[in-house]
Amino acid sequence: MSGDDTVAETFVLRETAAEPMTVVAVRAHRHRAPLLRPFVTAARRTEAVEYVVAEVELTGGVLGQGSAAETVAVTGESAETITAALTGPLRRALEGTGGTILELSARIAGALEGATSAKAALEVAVHDAWARRLDAPLVELLGGRIGDGLMNDMTISLEDPEVMATRAREAVVGGEQVLKIKLGRDIDEDRRRLAAVVEAAPGARLRLDANQGWEPEQAIDIITGFVADGLPLDLVEQPVAAANIEGLARVSAAVEVPIMADESVWDAADARRLVEADAVDLLNIKLAKTGGLRGALAIADVAREAGVECMVGAMMEPRISITAAAHLAIAHPAITMIDLDPPAWFASDVPAGGYVQDSGWLRLTGGPGLGLDRLGADVDPSDPIGDDR
Ligand SMILES: [Mg+2]
Repeated sequence: MSGDDTVAETFVLRETAAEPMTVVAVRAHRHRAPLLRPFVTAARRTEAVEYVVAEVELTGGVLGQGSAAETVAVTGESAETITAALTGPLRRALEGTGGTILELSARIAGALEGATSAKAALEVAVHDAWARRLDAPLVELLGGRIGDGLMNDMTISLEDPEVMATRAREAVVGGEQVLKIKLGRDIDEDRRRLAAVVEAAPGARLRLDANQGWEPEQAIDIITGFVADGLPLDLVEQPVAAANIEGLARVSAAVEVPIMADESVWDAADARRLVEADAVDLLNIKLAKTGGLRGALAIADVAREAGVECMVGAMMEPRISITAAAHLAIAHPAITMIDLDPPAWFASDVPAGGYVQDSGWLRLTGGPGLGLDRLGADVDPSDPIGDDR
């Protein structure tokens, strides 16, 4: 493509992006998706995911979808409250109104307090419809390139060391190169688990998530011990309590392993506080925490300015949410890592499209919007669909 074409296309993109759209309808439908095998962390054991699909319709019949899973322990939202937010205040804020993508996103953010995953579902749906209307992949409207990809990881559930070793071996044989492990509360048991995983999958890199489990001094001892054990660590996520910024800074200063904030960062103001305190090396962005793409991009902008890199993660969410997270991740230069394996846990991973994964490497499939088929209200994710994607 010549330079002139690039200029012309950018111009067209800006013009169309600034064009207002009108939302004629906001709808929501619920699904229950069984997992292939239980997902076990120190906090909970999940066998099925309750989620809600948000759908918007623009004038002319253009549709867009987003989704949100029940995550009572993290965002405080259940499938009932997500549905109530979508069909109540969020629908009232949007239905019958017009505006640019930024105006509609701002209206969603201001429609009610909290409800970040319900807002994310609707805000993603609006972005999907916006991009479909412009016949462009969302990633390109956000400034990225459809052909780019990122290395994904695979979570190994918290089980006995032998079971975790088997799962780690299976993952690596299946092409995974990065394993994520959510640690328990017994550090001696964790060391046995990690040793078993490393023995079973010697070439894999590890990401550890302590989910606020330690005190700062304890975290320093534990992580120093992991390094002495020779564990191939990419990062350690949220070693101490979310509000303990000073503790995070102490851990970051004391260990070589990059420290990532997750529960400590929900919005750009949190991100700014963390980077100003030199508290972490990395930030974990999740759409269910930020309330959608615009809040997520704002965190990534803070990170880029501070020279901090980001990972895009997710809750145990369905494919629509994960595809939106992948578009976000590939679009922003400060986002260099993804932790987006939830669809691999679903017995029936619907709808088709969005992205493909090969040897741990995730790429978007292209097509307008998120590039996904529409998920109808009548689809039952308990029905197996085969593996013909
Ligand atoms: Mg985490």
